[in-house]
Amino acid sequence: MPKPMHRSNSFKRVHVITSKKRNVLHYRRPAPSSPHCAICRAELNGISRSRHGGKSRRTNSRLFGGVLCANCTAEVVKLGSRVERGDMTLGDIGMRQRSYVLQLMSH
Ligand SMILES: [Zn+2]
Repeated sequence: MPKPMHRSNSFKRVHVITSKKRNVLHYRRPAPSSPHCAICRAELNGISRSRHGGKSRRTNSRLFGGVLCANCTAEVVKLGSRVERGDMTLGDIGMRQRSYVLQLMSH
């Protein structure tokens, strides 16, 4: 019987033939999927899929880095300044962008 931690489907099962020709089952964590933008779902650039390396390798230092793509970040900043100036209200902004505009304005 496998260990309780290996009874989950989050591990890939790999059949491995050992040097003594025994067929054994190994468990591996699958590679993480590539990160996507929270608004437009586009794949994010400049972010390593590897879990290793320093913080700057795993994300970028831009505003909303690792969460939003560059285009959506620019759009959120633009909408935030319009709301602050009074040209737009929060009700004019879409649901997905609104939470990020609120985050931006709270800083
Ligand atoms: Zn985006």
